[in-house]
Amino acid sequence: MRQPASIVWFRNDLRLADNPALTAAVKRGGPVLPVFIWAPDEEDDWAPGAASRWWLHHSLASLRLSIEKLDSVLLIRKGETLGQLRQLARQSGANAVFWNDRYEPQVLLRDRHIKASLRGAGIDVQSFSAGLLHEPGTVLNQAGKPYQVFTPFWKACLGLADRCMPLHPPRRLPSPASWPRPLPLDALALLPAADWARGIEAAWKPGEAGARANLRRFIRKALAAYSDGRNRPDEQGTSRLSPHLHFGEISPRQVWQTLATRRSSQFMAEIGWREFAHHLLFHFPHTPREPLRPNFRKFPWQFNARLMTAWQQGRTGYPLVDAGMRELWATGWMHNRVRMVAASFLVKDLLMDWRRGAAWFWDTLVDADLANNTLGWQWVAGCGADAAPYYRVFNPVGQGEKFDPDGNYVRRWVPELAQLPNNWIHRPFDAPAATLNKAGVVLGRDYPEPVVTHALARQVALMAYKDLSQD
Ligand code: FAD
Repeated sequence: MRQPASIVWFRNDLRLADNPALTAAVKRGGPVLPVFIWAPDEEDDWAPGAASRWWLHHSLASLRLSIEKLDSVLLIRKGETLGQLRQLARQSGANAVFWNDRYEPQVLLRDRHIKASLRGAGIDVQSFSAGLLHEPGTVLNQAGKPYQVFTPFWKACLGLADRCMPLHPPRRLPSPASWPRPLPLDALALLPAADWARGIEAAWKPGEAGARANLRRFIRKALAAYSDGRNRPDEQGTSRLSPHLHFGEISPRQVWQTLATRRSSQFMAEIGWREFAHHLLFHFPHTPREPLRPNFRKFPWQFNARLMTAWQQGRTGYPLVDAGMRELWATGWMHNRVRMVAASFLVKDLLMDWRRGAAWFWDTLVDADLANNTLGWQWVAGCGADAAPYYRVFNPVGQGEKFDPDGNYVRRWVPELAQLPNNWIHRPFDAPAATLNKAGVVLGRDYPEPVVTHALARQVALMAYKDLSQD
């Protein structure tokens, strides 16, 4: 007798290679039904933001094409996940569902519920670890507690037994006798306004092939110089793998194996930060909403709508911050060094709550990731794990002069300053009138005056932080 069908529920694992859920379904024999279900209401406040939805649309289009090349169909559905899975099982006669695990708190709860309900209905459910090098909960310190400092965490990871080799993609996916009806991808209405998406489109190629191409380019052109190059927003010194990793178009295990001889490199340590962030979110599920360090709960955050808009639009009067915020808006991504500077400016110079910044990033980043975004913002605000000390306030001028020494990054994203000479490009507000005049810049007309004076804002922030640390 022919084996009944299996459903493979795709989530943030939009790839055919190194996909344990898919491999297990194929191995089981019988027809395989690849399924994606759009159910944003099930992700609490963290349904994919606008830029992520753009990515998701194109990543699904790419996956659908790859699946069609295997003479199969990607079944796209929307609505309550459990109901959709049950309906698909009924329609296809499937008696097994396979998926790869996710670790966001709300998703974990939902998945546990779905697993129990399906099993209760006599459907076999198996889930696999595929998005991280090590399953959360398996890397603990000698006291059996989660690490809260990165270096010992990563050392422990490097000391663990090697992971097995990445899995090959399947050669074919056996079809059921008849297919349940899929929705067209457009029915999910994931795409934002065309004019906003144009810049993002020009910057990225979502999908498995795009992920592999980025990794190859990075190894060929940037890996050797990564230790320094990763800090230079004016160069392509990083891998730009973050959205591909977030949507699971490439697995960290594939990256790990590709870099087999360079596993302890600075680059792999960054993959380690991704692991660290996901393990922390698993152990401290309240941290997207609350600071990890409880004394920060009473930090006197301020709010000013005009300043928030200036920050979001890249009109703070600090060129490196503005270049970063405009790069984010135009491409859905911002260089890590500039993320730190722009986030520090919001939190420490403007004293605005890190959660407001995290929410803006959530909506505008193509790589928006609950674990990495939470860690990044809490790190900058000083309230998270292994966080920057409170007295570390990034100086947007000094950071610009150090990491964008020729001003090329600022010239690209803040073109109204393009004619300023290098020594003034990161601080136009200090430039002599004649220099501004020659560069065709009138401050307050072509480019904003600084919204705050950094040196003063820094003093105010230090006082607020010091009060807190003395409690
Ligand atoms: P590479 O330097 O090439 O690093 C390779 C991979 O390592 C990245 O793709 C990413 O998966 C991981 N990685 C690198 N740095 C970090 C880090 N500090 N924390 C966790 N993982 C890291 N990253 C996201 O993926 N999603 C986010 O929502 C996000 N929000 C952030 C918010 C703030 C305030 C800050 C300071 C950082 C944030 N980061 C986030 C981390 C980091 O900025 C990006 O992962 C990185 O810039 C992506 O570019 P890349 O792929 O070229 O990185």
